[in-house]
Amino acid sequence: MNPAHSLPDPSRRAFLKTGVGAVAAAGVPAGWLAGARAATARKTIGIQVGAVSFVDEGVEPLLDILQAKGGVNTLFLTTFTYGRGLAGRQIPGQPFPDHGRQQSDAATFHGGNYATPHPAYYRNTLLQPAHAPDLGAFDVVAAVLPAAHRRGMKVFCSLEDVWRADVPGVSQATQVDLHGRRTRSTLCPLHPAVPAFWTALASDLCHSYDIDGLLFFNEHNGPLLEAIGASHAQQIAASQATCFCAFHRQAARAQGLSFERAREGYLRLEQFVGDALAGRRPSDGYFVAFSRLLDTYPEISAWDRLFDAGKHQVLAALHATVKAIRPELQVGFHIEHVNSFNPMFRATRSYAELATKADFLKIVVYNNCGGERYAHYIRNLAATVFRDVPPEELLRFNNHLLNYGEEAGLEQLAAAGLSPDYVFRETQRALAGVQGRCRILPGIDLGIPTGPGSRKAAPADTYAATAAALRAGPDGVLFSRKYSEMRLANLAAAGSAVAEWRAGGEKGGGAG
Ligand SMILES: [Zn+2]
Repeated sequence: MNPAHSLPDPSRRAFLKTGVGAVAAAGVPAGWLAGARAATARKTIGIQVGAVSFVDEGVEPLLDILQAKGGVNTLFLTTFTYGRGLAGRQIPGQPFPDHGRQQSDAATFHGGNYATPHPAYYRNTLLQPAHAPDLGAFDVVAAVLPAAHRRGMKVFCSLEDVWRADVPGVSQATQVDLHGRRTRSTLCPLHPAVPAFWTALASDLCHSYDIDGLLFFNEHNGPLLEAIGASHAQQIAASQATCFCAFHRQAARAQGLSFERAREGYLRLEQFVGDALAGRRPSDGYFVAFSRLLDTYPEISAWDRLFDAGKHQVLAALHATVKAIRPELQVGFHIEHVNSFNPMFRATRSYAELATKADFLKIVVYNNCGGERYAHYIRNLAATVFRDVPPEELLRFNNHLLNYGEEAGLEQLAAAGLSPDYVFRETQRALAGVQGRCRILPGIDLGIPTGPGSRKAAPADTYAATAAALRAGPDGVLFSRKYSEMRLANLAAAGSAVAEWRAGGEKGGGAG
């Protein structure tokens, strides 16, 4: 039984207080419930782990640790990326955890395909990444999968859309900014080589290995968020808004959307952002001027939607490719942190719609690093569109919009992190959004690196976050970001929350 749908009384009252709760309480067709129950017969306790950890610690000893300390039953092996968020040892400048080799791999890290690419699959794409050379010939899927399956653990391949500029084909398929300049290594989802590559990689992995599924990561934002700096991570630079390449122009033309008007709108937006950052206040105020731009140039939003459509086409193509190979293979998407912080971004992401393209969604609800990231997001917006609003008030207003509960004020937010209640609420929102049509795995922060003075996860934090997520009644949890940056005590504390939950019959649905 999926506790999210049974809604025992105490949680039901808490749930109904919220707008999203009303949707879930309105009734879910019985067929979905039956399907959801069958699919969740065994809950997923997953962990994201890269190849270097198996090389450093040995396959069997590492699997022992993951099972014994974390209660892990599913591995999400970083199989394709050029990024250090999911691959490699601890990132430079951060303390090593209490396991693995205590030596930086900054000089040797390269990235690529940590499995073995079979060239026949990649004939229809100009993107030609090679086997990741950092660990010699080591093939993480071949090395880990048999041992994991012998233990009854499932194995998923994590694929991340992060590239290096020197990979053959990348320079021809990158995004183009407002001024016609190519980005260094960010690929355009509408370039035909890009979906061709991802579907080729998915085919290769699903045919070449007896895996249980894929998890796809793509954190690239559309031009509107980039232009106004409305994420937690990026520098505000309107001129970096993308993508305005030939394929985007062609797609726009096909739907009667004017490239010239969109470009003019984004140039005006660039001017607005530049003025705001310099403190040159429009006579009607920042928010009014921004709203007027969106009214005058509906092409600004339309171009942003065009970008998302391209990104989602890749997701749909991946899903269709995998299902055509073996329908029982599971395909999931990582839903980035900005979806939690930004109400405008939320408006463009419907969980119900995403559920039509995925078997599961990994939703980012990282709460320890979440304080630092959310504070950054608020300060970004308070520098442009909402520059007339004192940042502390903007934070509180945004908390209301997002249905966050009691969280720290702006000055304390990075040091405090976000609360376990945040984890509970965001998990509950996702469950209500998908209405049983796909599985929800909240991604739990087990010590994601943060800056000086910001919250560092302690065992009490990872226990509380895991317990809060499980109380909401999801289909499992996914320990994040990568094992090579987690302290064993943090993993063990999260594992003890899992053990208590299993002892209680894997029930959720309590009030947060
Ligand atoms: Zn493009």
